[in-house]
Amino acid sequence: MRVLFVTAEAVPFAKVGGLADVAGALPVALANQGVDVRVILPKYASVDDRKYSLQRAEDLGEVDVPVDASSRRATFSWTYYPNTAVKVYFVGNDHYFGREGIYTDPGTGDGYKDNGERFIFFMKAVMHAARLLDGELDLIHCHDHQTGLIPAYLKVTYSADRVLSRVASLFTIHNLAYQGLFSPSLMPATGFGLEYFSPLSPFEFWGRINFMKVGIHYADVLNTVSPRYAQEIQMGEEYGFGLQGVLQDRKEDLYGILNGIDDSVWNPETDPLIPYRYSATDLSGKSKNKEALLRRCGFSPDGDGPVIGLISRLTDQKGFDLLEQIVDPLFSLDVRVVVLGTGQKKYQDLLQAIQGKYRLKFRVFLAFDDPLAHLIEAGSDLFLMPSRFEPCGLNQLYSLKYGTVPIVRSTGGLADTVQDLGSEPERATGFKFEAYEPEALLAAVRRALRAYQDRSTWQQLMRRGMQQDFSWAASARQYLELYRKTIRKRRNERST
Ligand code: ADP
Repeated sequence: MRVLFVTAEAVPFAKVGGLADVAGALPVALANQGVDVRVILPKYASVDDRKYSLQRAEDLGEVDVPVDASSRRATFSWTYYPNTAVKVYFVGNDHYFGREGIYTDPGTGDGYKDNGERFIFFMKAVMHAARLLDGELDLIHCHDHQTGLIPAYLKVTYSADRVLSRVASLFTIHNLAYQGLFSPSLMPATGFGLEYFSPLSPFEFWGRINFMKVGIHYADVLNTVSPRYAQEIQMGEEYGFGLQGVLQDRKEDLYGILNGIDDSVWNPETDPLIPYRYSATDLSGKSKNKEALLRRCGFSPDGDGPVIGLISRLTDQKGFDLLEQIVDPLFSLDVRVVVLGTGQKKYQDLLQAIQGKYRLKFRVFLAFDDPLAHLIEAGSDLFLMPSRFEPCGLNQLYSLKYGTVPIVRSTGGLADTVQDLGSEPERATGFKFEAYEPEALLAAVRRALRAYQDRSTWQQLMRRGMQQDFSWAASARQYLELYRKTIRKRRNERST
């Protein structure tokens, strides 16, 4: 089976969020299952030719991609994923991708004004590459709105193309909150006529073009990154962000597959980024990591209370408004909190204000810092994810692996991956709360602190979490099954 995996981010080349982790690991896990998978993404400024030993992709040449009135040239290069035989291709164009940021300008924090055009260019260049790759493709696996037009190109633009008309498409939704909404003035650039923009048509969404909606409409099969989230996004506006109806129309073809975690990066037994390595059978290194974390935070080494970690983009999704409302009662408890994050200014200000008031108990690092993320996972006792919604969530999985007991809101992938001590004591790995209310969060923290006092219950919780299997191999097997289903569906439709 030959698959082209199209993504706007992939570790180690370019990362904004969880999509990059998925795209960095899933292709390798699929290759281990025997899939001939190639990855393609934009060649951002972070993709250094020398560092990654990039070579020109002679088989793909170069192509002038029409975007609006003019064309721009796409170049193609490739390398291997580090230490694997998985090939990754890059679409190059300095005008669109030779910038410091991926979606946003790091200087202003604003999204690039030409993001619509940038990703139309990318998708059209991908279609060119898909025709020329050696060996005929069976399936294109698209991820999020930056790839949303590709299923439409396959079904409409290339419907008579000898090579591409038989290629199936799977569209994976990693986060429905980001839909790729652009001005209708970009319709000519997409290559689709205005008839595709009439009300209720696949492209139109409240007067704007919606790339996510296009992907949902045209893909042969869809999935999200957890079973619960696949259900939630059909339920209403709260999780569906206006696309709940379109998703309900496709419910027969909508699946949920949990993300895995990359064991070679997130494993306390081998992690080179933490000062002390440890395992479920020997937890002694964990308390030493806690001491290192306390030092890093400038906290006193004394005291028995737990440290709660939180690593997150600072956005409305992640529940900082709940934290804001429990600050005083939270710090009346014997607990210290460390937060690592980048994002919206209002949350930066909030976190700095909390730090100003509770300097001995609260520390915030406003940075994107991978080594510090590892230290927080290894050195914290508890991990907090009070998300409003969470398609899958990776940090609770890392936390489980690192014996850092998660406190999560019961939504999406958080609901699917954490078992609550109160309701499922035999299988428990953490603490969950249901209502998106500050009191519910505070009650969960209090329950966690009570459990923390009982060392044997606590060690059991930690060990059970550490022994969970969230390997990519398990998820890759499910994707392989879904690929087969998608290809069968495409072939059946073409033969009828
Ligand atoms: P999302 O994709 O919504 O951002 P996930 O939990 O699925 O959330 O994945 C976030 C990923 O980004 C994790 O690997 C997390 O460790 C990482 N991350 C987020 N913020 C930071 C940060 N400030 N520094 C280092 N890593 C971060």
